Amino acid sequence: EKIDIGWNFENSYAHLPESMFTRIKPTPVRKPELVILNETLATALGLNSTALHSKEGVQNLAGNEVPEGTVTLAQAYAGHQFGHFTMLGDGRAALIGEQIIPQGERVDIQLKGAGRTPYSRGGDGRAGLGPMLREYIISEAMHGLGIPTTRSLAVVTTGETIIRETEQPGAILTRVAASHLRVGTFQYVAAWGTVEDVRTLADYTLQRHYPEAVSQENRYLFLLREVIGRQAELIAKWQLVGFIHGVMNTDNMALSGETIDYGPCAFMDVYHPETVFSSIDQQGRYAYGNQPGIASWNLARFAETLLPLLADDQEQAIQLAEEEIADFKERSYHHWLSGMRAKLGIFNEEVEDVALIEDLLDLMQKYRADYTNTFRALTLEKLEETALFGAAEFTKWQELWQARLSRQQQSKEVSLQLMRNSNPAIIPRNHRVEEALQAAVQQEDYSVMERLLKALSNPYAYSPEQDEYSALPEESARPYRTFCGT
Ligand code: AMP
Ligand code: MG
Ligand code: MG
Repeated sequence: EKIDIGWNFENSYAHLPESMFTRIKPTPVRKPELVILNETLATALGLNSTALHSKEGVQNLAGNEVPEGTVTLAQAYAGHQFGHFTMLGDGRAALIGEQIIPQGERVDIQLKGAGRTPYSRGGDGRAGLGPMLREYIISEAMHGLGIPTTRSLAVVTTGETIIRETEQPGAILTRVAASHLRVGTFQYVAAWGTVEDVRTLADYTLQRHYPEAVSQENRYLFLLREVIGRQAELIAKWQLVGFIHGVMNTDNMALSGETIDYGPCAFMDVYHPETVFSSIDQQGRYAYGNQPGIASWNLARFAETLLPLLADDQEQAIQLAEEEIADFKERSYHHWLSGMRAKLGIFNEEVEDVALIEDLLDLMQKYRADYTNTFRALTLEKLEETALFGAAEFTKWQELWQARLSRQQQSKEVSLQLMRNSNPAIIPRNHRVEEALQAAVQQEDYSVMERLLKALSNPYAYSPEQDEYSALPEESARPYRTFCGT
């Protein structure tokens, strides 16, 4: 007998003006097979894992069959890619519906790699198994770290081969997001729609993500301020764990405040503000240390789309927008500084904390110390495990830090607990992610990935099973490189 999968779809996006999307159906694939399913997430979404494993479930996750009654579509958007404005849109993704989950929230269920759409430009509409598993691992790791992110429900292989630099197995990722509204969605409507279209989109975004706006005098200014607030917090969280997004184009910035679009992202190992992994980011536009500045630039592009709504007088609108944008860096810095204090076990505030934090970062840079493992060693009180150990400058720093900790009421135990909650023992290290992907793609062995995912699900556990994942890779001649959209 048939078990109900648990889809509970609405299609509010399909009621927006027609120009904002195109109704499409996923292109069926030859022989879909489920290779990984996020059972915990499935349950939270009100879905039945057993049913998702069944033939019908896999057909749904592959886009071969669309659940009854839902409207499937590709969203239109634009964006600044490396600073250049262009028309984009879902070129290989299909929104299957908005799942109303048991808790009452609404989340997008999107199939990524589901075939060509009117926005595909030259692309084949498909995705490779390696990159889709990579998104699965890193997005779930981000969730484990407590960072807002889109989630990954499942990956199916398609039974088809896709052609990139080499041939690879095709795959489809089921992505779960608070929504797929982007800065680029507003840019698209502002560039090619009417002011009324922008208002419709803004009202939709408010209703979906900022419903408390109803009581606001200027709800569009409120929208701008709240989007800035969520991004300020998000970027600070990235910086605190050493996450480098790699392709912070305006179409890859979600208005929900979730991290979205896992392409060439990676975690920094050795601390250096100029760290870049993406092979296409030649200028270092999206380097670690540039992320707050780029976010601010992207948010300015968002603010521009709202100008007609902010005030009748456009000069006044510009002034209002500029004031909000000007606040971004300070708001983000504020979150970062609080986070850094916590990483050092500090509860109260002293002006000199900034110097203490910066001195540590400078030492890490000078001695090529691993960012995550330095904080881990401080947390575990195993200073001999850091690359800084033995340096007189570090001994001096450590004395200042200990003196600083003594100037607060909290005991050492409480302070160390704060550090354990703020410093992940493990991150998805590049060589461990690669190892998991190789086993999966080349040997169809998913156990390496499953083990890694389990360890990453609670990076603050400091459990013995996690120890192996904190080991650094062998020194390699070539730097780690990541690639976009493959
Ligand atoms: P991204 O770099 O992932 O932000 O993607 C940029 C744009 O290219 C988006 O509009 C994608 O939908 C589109 N895109 C990426 N890969 C493909 C593909 N294989 N086929 C069609 N469109 C694609
Ligand atoms: Mg994108
Ligand atoms: Mg992408």
